[in-house]
Amino acid sequence: MASMTLSEKKIKLKELQKLLAQYDDEYYQNDAPSVSDAEYDKLKNEALTLEKELSQDDLFADLIVSKKVGSKAKAGFKKITHPIPMLSLENLYTNDDLKEFYTRIRRDLGLMSNDVVEIDAEPKIDGLSFNARYENGVFISGATRGDGTVGEDITENLKTIKTLPLKIENAPEILEIRGEVYMSKEDFFKLNETQEKNGEKLFANPRNAAAGSLRQLDPNVTKKRNLSLIVYAWGEVKPNVLWSTQTEFYKKAKEWGFPIQPFFETCTTYEELQSFYDKVGTKRHAIPFDIDGIVYKVNSLEFQKKLGFIARAPKWAIAHKFQPEQALTVINGITLQVGRTGVVTPVAELDPINVGGVIVSRATLHNRDYIKEKDIREKDTVIIQRAGDVIPQVVSVVLSERPQNTIPFEMPMECPICKSPLEQKKDEVAFRCTNPLCPAQIKEYLKYFISREGFNIDGLGDSGIELFFEKGWIKTPVDIFTLIPNHIDDIKRLEGFGPKSIQNLMESIEKSKHIKLDKFIYSLGIFGVGEATAIILANEFSSIEGLKSATFDDLTKIYGIGDKMAMDIINYFRNTQKVELINQLLNFIEIENPEKIEIDSSNPLFEKTVVFTGTLIHFSRKDAEDIARKFGAHPSSSVSKKTDLVIAGTNAGSKLENAKKFGIKVISEDEFKSLIEQK
Ligand code: NAD
Repeated sequence: MASMTLSEKKIKLKELQKLLAQYDDEYYQNDAPSVSDAEYDKLKNEALTLEKELSQDDLFADLIVSKKVGSKAKAGFKKITHPIPMLSLENLYTNDDLKEFYTRIRRDLGLMSNDVVEIDAEPKIDGLSFNARYENGVFISGATRGDGTVGEDITENLKTIKTLPLKIENAPEILEIRGEVYMSKEDFFKLNETQEKNGEKLFANPRNAAAGSLRQLDPNVTKKRNLSLIVYAWGEVKPNVLWSTQTEFYKKAKEWGFPIQPFFETCTTYEELQSFYDKVGTKRHAIPFDIDGIVYKVNSLEFQKKLGFIARAPKWAIAHKFQPEQALTVINGITLQVGRTGVVTPVAELDPINVGGVIVSRATLHNRDYIKEKDIREKDTVIIQRAGDVIPQVVSVVLSERPQNTIPFEMPMECPICKSPLEQKKDEVAFRCTNPLCPAQIKEYLKYFISREGFNIDGLGDSGIELFFEKGWIKTPVDIFTLIPNHIDDIKRLEGFGPKSIQNLMESIEKSKHIKLDKFIYSLGIFGVGEATAIILANEFSSIEGLKSATFDDLTKIYGIGDKMAMDIINYFRNTQKVELINQLLNFIEIENPEKIEIDSSNPLFEKTVVFTGTLIHFSRKDAEDIARKFGAHPSSSVSKKTDLVIAGTNAGSKLENAKKFGIKVISEDEFKSLIEQK
C-alpha cells in the first residue's frame, strides 16, 4: 500500500468500505456470509490501515470502518435503543500484539514496574451478543447488539432459552445483563442433519445457526432450536453497580442464576495471559461450543474507567483470535457424485484428517471450473479448512509437495454410474448425466420423493432408500408402497430392523398415503418446481388432472411461472413414463385436493401484487400471503414500482419507506383484515 498514490489509496479505501459494508449485511443481517472470517478480517485490516493513513477529510463519513459496530437492526423487528451502547472488541493475532497490549495497558494506567494489574482471560464465544433488561428483578425485554446503539427486539425469542432467568432475587431496580447466545456443536450438527433431511438450507457454522435461530420473527422457531447462553457483561444498572471487578460481577451473575464462563483466569503477567491462550487453544476442540479466541479484560472497574473507549470498542479489553481450523492432507482420488437432476459433482477423497475435532475424509470440489482455478490434482497435498463450516473446503494446494508426474484433472465425459454421456448446457458450469434411468439419479430422486416437502416418509429415511435400493426392493416410488406386502419377511431378517423400527416404517408409509396435492406435485420432481411453485400450481389447478391438461397459456398466465418452467411442466406430462408413474401411484395413494375457490374479480386484491411488511398481529406472514392468494393477489417479498399494495404491520422498515418513495398504496393490517372479512 505504501507504493500507492494518495488518489489510489482513496479509491482503494472506498472500494474496501463498500465491500465490507456488503459483507456486514450478509453476515449480520442475513446470517449468510459469502466470504470466510479470515478473508473479511484481512480486508478490514487493510481498510483500517488506509483510514489511519488518510486524513479525516478524505474519509467517507457513513462507512468509516474504525467507527462501525455490527450492522443496522433488521427490518421487520421492533427496535430497542440501548441506553449504554453495546460495543465490539479490538482484535489481536500474535504474541507480539499481546505483549504490546499488555504494555500499553500498564503505560496508560501509569503503573510502576512493581505495580500489579489484574487481567481476566476468558474464552471468546462465537455466537451473537444479547442484552437482557430486568426491572425490579423481572425480565422485561431483550435485544441484539444491532449497530451498537439500536438493536432488534428479541424479547420473546430470548424467553425460549431455558437458562435465562425470567425473575431474579435482590436485583437492582434496573439491571441490564449482556452475554452471548450460542449453539453447541452437538446441537448444530443435529440441526443441520434435520435441515438436510428436510431439504432446507444448511447453516455454515454454529454462529450463523445461532444468529439465524435467535433473530426469527416467529419465536416458535427459536424455541425449536436448542440455543444456550453465557453472560459476561452488563449495560445499564441503577441505582448503582454492585461490583468493583469483572470477577465479582461473574460471582454475582452466578448467584442470580445466569450461566457464566465455565473457565476463566485472572492473570497478572503477560506470560500468564499467553499460557492461558495456548492452553485453551489446544483444548479448543474438546469445548462443546465454538470459540474463536480469548478475550482479555482489565479486571478492576476503576482501571477500566481510566482506560476508557475508542469509537467501536473499549480500550481495556481485546480479543486474541485463533487461527481458522485448517489441516494438511492428501487427495487420494477425485470421485464423481451424481445428483437427482443428473448434476455430476467432483469430490476429493482425502486421507482422513482431524480438522477442529471432526474427522474429514471428503471435500466437495464443486465443479470442473473450481478444480481448474485451484489446479487441484489427485495425490496433491492440500490445505483443508473447516472453520466451523459444515462442508470442508480445499483452501489451496501445497505446490511444493506435489509429486512428479501428476496430471491436471479432466472431467470425464461419461456418467460414473451408468456410463451415459455427460452434457454441459449453455450458461451452466455443471455437467449432467443424460440418462434419466441412471441408477444414481433414481436413488437421489427416491430420497427427494420421501422428503418432508414431498411424501414425508421419515420412518424410511435416506438410509432406508440406500439399503432397499441396493437390495433391489425399491426401484421406483411405487415400490415404496408395495415394500411391506412384498418384503416384510426379508426386512425382518435384516440386521437392525427390530419390531419397533418395522412398526415405525409401516406407520410412516401408511400415513404418507394421504397426501395434499401441493406435496404430491412437489414429489414429482418436475424441473424447477419447488415447494412454493407446487403450492401455486395446486391452488390454480385443484387436481392433478387439471395440472396435467394445463396448456402453455394456462401456465404462463400464472404469476411467477415463466416460459421455461411452463415448458418443463408440459414436457413432464408429455412423458408417458411419468404419466404411468402417476397412474400407478394413484392405485396406492389418496390426494387431498385444495378447495377450488371462485375468486370474485371485483375484490380489491384481485390480480394485485402485494407485499406484507412489519410485524403482523392477526396472522403469520405465510397465512396472510395464502389468504391474499385466495383473493387472487400475488404476494411478493420485495417492494418495486410494480407493487400495487403494501400491507404494513407494526415496525415496518425499509419496505414501507420504499412504498412511500414509489407512491404505492399502503394499508394497515387491520384494514387488510376488514377488507377480507367484508368479502
Ligand atoms: P467480534 O465478534 O470479533 O468481537 C466482539 C464480540 O465478541 C462482542 O460483541 C461479543 O458479542 C463477543 N464476545 C464473545 N465472547 C465474549 C467475551 N467473553 N467477552 C466479551 N465479548 C465476547 O466482533 P464483531 O464486531 O461482532 O464481529 C467481527 C467478527 O465477525 C470478526 O471475526 C469477523 O471476521 C466476523 N465477520 C465476518 C464477516 C464475513 O463476511 N465473514 C462479516 C462481518 C463480520
